[in-house]
Amino acid sequence: MSSNLARTQAIHTISQRSPMDLGKTDPLSKIWGCDVFNLARMEETLSKNAFKAMKKTFQTGEPLNPATADVVAAAMKEWAMSKGAKFFSHIFYPMTNATAEKHDGFIISSPEGNAITDFSGSLLIKGEPDGSSFPNGSLRMTNAARGYTAWDPTSPAYIMHTANGATLMIPCVFLSWTGEALDKKIPLLRSNAAMNTAAQRVLKLMGETDVATLNSSCGAEQEYFLIDEAFATARPDILLAGRTLFGAPPAKGQQFDDHYFGAIPERVQVFMQDLEDKLYRLGIPAKTHHNEVAPGQFEIAPYFESANVAADHQQLLMTLMKITAKSHGFLCMLHEKPFAGVNGSGKHVNWSVGNATQGNLLDPGNTPEENLHFLAFCGAVIRGVHQFGPLLRAVIASASNDHRLGANEAPPAILSVYLGSQLEQVFQDIKDGKLLKTKQGGQMDLGLSQILKFDRDPGDRNRTSPFAFTGNRFEFRAVGSSQSVSGPLIAMNTMLADSLNWIADKLEAELKGGKDAATATLAVLKVVMEQHGNAVFGGDGYSSDWHKAAVEERGLKNLPTSADALPELLSPEVAGLFERTGVLSPVELHSRFEVYAEQYVNSIDVEAKLMINMATTMIYPAAVTYLSELSATAGSLQELGITLDNAVAKSIAAEANALMAAVGKLSEASAKHDFTSVQDHMRFLADTVRELMNEVRAHADTLETLISDEMWPLPKYSEMLFIK
Ligand code: ADP
Ligand code: MG
Repeated sequence: MSSNLARTQAIHTISQRSPMDLGKTDPLSKIWGCDVFNLARMEETLSKNAFKAMKKTFQTGEPLNPATADVVAAAMKEWAMSKGAKFFSHIFYPMTNATAEKHDGFIISSPEGNAITDFSGSLLIKGEPDGSSFPNGSLRMTNAARGYTAWDPTSPAYIMHTANGATLMIPCVFLSWTGEALDKKIPLLRSNAAMNTAAQRVLKLMGETDVATLNSSCGAEQEYFLIDEAFATARPDILLAGRTLFGAPPAKGQQFDDHYFGAIPERVQVFMQDLEDKLYRLGIPAKTHHNEVAPGQFEIAPYFESANVAADHQQLLMTLMKITAKSHGFLCMLHEKPFAGVNGSGKHVNWSVGNATQGNLLDPGNTPEENLHFLAFCGAVIRGVHQFGPLLRAVIASASNDHRLGANEAPPAILSVYLGSQLEQVFQDIKDGKLLKTKQGGQMDLGLSQILKFDRDPGDRNRTSPFAFTGNRFEFRAVGSSQSVSGPLIAMNTMLADSLNWIADKLEAELKGGKDAATATLAVLKVVMEQHGNAVFGGDGYSSDWHKAAVEERGLKNLPTSADALPELLSPEVAGLFERTGVLSPVELHSRFEVYAEQYVNSIDVEAKLMINMATTMIYPAAVTYLSELSATAGSLQELGITLDNAVAKSIAAEANALMAAVGKLSEASAKHDFTSVQDHMRFLADTVRELMNEVRAHADTLETLISDEMWPLPKYSEMLFIK
């Protein structure tokens, strides 16, 4: 018997809930960074020399000598044990969007039978997990499995508190015995180093003599949905695929735009406070939170940090969001499109590069036309986006982000760069060879005496651009909410490194020809704009006119699905880029393509199977049960001489038949596995399987609008999005 029992029980459970009582929470000054072995902690616990060495490594990435590692390990262990930790773990970042950890006890037993603790420099520096059990894209076979984790001293160790106790977590890189990167951290560190080398070259050619190490920075805005956990347990699709595979649109969605920046529901507020306190303990600078566009959707953004630390913190943030949500009776959904028809979730990756001597090189200041460093770096980004747009598209490609890109409230799958009117004019002037004074934003004066005047920004915002300049940084807006920020950061740092090297080569030639640094820089930027200015676009990125013009007139690539985008990783341009800059060898790059392609195939495979199962065992039975009730009622009424119109029953029967016919086609399609290449397999999934899934869904969603609410087994959109 189909029934709505699971739904009504869920609603009952939720009606009994109240916001968690957090008790009296500690002030920020007491909890900030208290679980982090940061520089302050090292200064307290290390000898002067060891601290100096660690600080240098932390700030410049310079190698640390093994004797110092021993001293650090001992201090780290003492500190961690004083905080209750009995275990330590190397935490690393394999080619998934998740983290991996291998826990070991500090304890060893002595010959006398006593328990002593041990944690030497060598245990800190190196661990040995099995390299073949993680996605490795044929880099490791099961019989040649050795992999290493190695301590990254530039990302601080910390204590993770769980129900299982406290564990010292040590951020690490992960590589194979043959020395290839099996993770996302190694290429991120390499891309940062490549960017630094190239940036040093350009700045020195431009006449700078004192140039400190350059570092990339990242501030990631994380969007997410919260639904009550009780609903999730009644929806196998949410549990296994992280999104709803079925669900008719609710009568009220986001059309009133009344959720964005609205008052945050109390249970959610308490969750946010609890989460933020946990983040503060771990030294993660959570800075803003608010409601997002869709009902049930929210955002959290920490203050920006060095890209490597920000990437580690972002992974930790996602982990803590899920754990904390659970303890508040919520499910935190990081999927890019958990609910069809409402806003999807992204992760805007704000990115800039800078150092201690020249500052933020993407800060134009008040007179960008006079700021040659800024112009050179911004020009390098423009070239990068144009030359490597397909790479930027490929690093954000996933089965789940495909649902979001190009849909409502999400950037398109065509990579262009938005500069804002003032900068667009500056670069147009450079192209035209006549650099003029720029227009300033001026003052905002409302003419209301009680409202103070303030400076207006020189340009408006454009939220339809996938890659936008936002005042002193670029914001990569097409990144998906569940994705690691490392892939996008690697791509941005590497394309910038390559463009800066290209600029340096050209600058060298111009300077040899006798030009002064300023004239030479502008001459090179003129070439940048002539060759790559097509990537600059300030209009509406959502419009169909742009989709047409971008491809037909500007020669930009529109890569709507991952099946189109992922193979771009194998293009000679991309392989050349990574090899030239030393960020990924051809083998490492190829392994990444294999891993991501396999993840795409597996995700759709799982969803198709799940869809077939739910349609057959939950939705079709609900239709049949309701039909049998209708026909029994119609029969009884007929005996009383009353005729019940059979239109509804007929529609249900027709939809139920069509549903099962579509399920049949989907089963057949998803059983097909004889493809000549993974590219062909991805193409088939994108074009055929996804279409059939849409067909199955359409019939199921129509049935939801026809079948008695009492028999509908799955929590509905209106319930999941609005009941908190
Ligand atoms: P908005 O929603 O207006 O884009 P938010 O304040 O939500 O802005 O998020 C902006 C993000 O950009 C924050 O994480 C912020 O710390 C980060 N950010 C600010 N300046 C820089 C910079 N120079 N480099 C990198 N990230 C930055
Ligand atoms: Mg933003």
